[in-house]
Amino acid sequence: MVLAELGGTITNALKRMSNATIIDEKVINECLNGITRALLQSDVRLELVKNMQDNIKKILKNEELAAGHNKRKIIQQAVYSELCKIVDSGKPPVTPKKGKTSVIMFVGLQGSGKTTTCTKYAYYHQKKGWKPALVCADTFRAGAFDQLKQNATKAKIPFYGSYMESDPVKIAGEGVERFKKENCDLIIVDTSGRHKQEASLFEEMRQVSEITKPDLVIFVMDSSIGQAAYDQALAFKKSVSVGAVIITKMDGHAKGGGALSAVAATKSPVIFIGTGEHMDEFEVFDAKPFVSRLLG
Ligand code: GDP
Repeated sequence: MVLAELGGTITNALKRMSNATIIDEKVINECLNGITRALLQSDVRLELVKNMQDNIKKILKNEELAAGHNKRKIIQQAVYSELCKIVDSGKPPVTPKKGKTSVIMFVGLQGSGKTTTCTKYAYYHQKKGWKPALVCADTFRAGAFDQLKQNATKAKIPFYGSYMESDPVKIAGEGVERFKKENCDLIIVDTSGRHKQEASLFEEMRQVSEITKPDLVIFVMDSSIGQAAYDQALAFKKSVSVGAVIITKMDGHAKGGGALSAVAATKSPVIFIGTGEHMDEFEVFDAKPFVSRLLG
């Protein structure tokens, strides 16, 4: 279920409840089940949905439910605040400071939109007066360096990489070193997203992280991966200290649930969303408006 549909379905479930003559437990349960179904179809993890349902029931029990329209309002507010709780990690993201060197490492599976997002992130900051630089530490995927180089050239952002060197750790170390000397204040390291074995991918990430000592590790996730979002995010979080999440391809058949699950798995905030293939199709993520939009 795409994001807009999810909001509509939840709103309909609430409307049906308020149209009922008597709002008894049966009507409330039907409403909550409708909301639950909508969230599950949007790939929100079952555990999160169950938790939310329990919390709403607790809130309802504690409230004086005199008039029917109050119940609708109470449930609506509870759904809103529960969704905000899921999407808001409660932890403010590490924000790099202009003029002070920060190393930002990007991780995520191949195809997630990582390389595109690295450039978008650099471009976004460059427009705000930063001095970003891009380092291509993906030596596994043929063409990764060319792609980064092409994007970086288009945006006039300095880049570092190599066609010859096959050791990503060496390239990452050298690139970061060089751009530190050049006083770049936002050094972005793009890492590989695929290996013959998963274990070697995570080991490589650990080594790149060790040598570059990132101030922030950003996990990039394709919004269309559905229920796999939670496990995938968790696997990355276990290997490197993910501090923020960027969700890509929110323009397509984007499911809202993936974002909620990634936040739950990494306990890190979503900071941006990708809304297209172009460099400037990139938006700051804000939990409250996101949930409001979700609920129509
Ligand atoms: P990587 O393998 O993770 O580095 O992924 P890429 O950056 O090469 O992106 C994979 C594909 O997704 C490319 O065709 C990108 O143009 C596309 N892509 C990345 N971000 C977005 C987005 O926000 N929206 C859309 N529609 N496409 C995107």
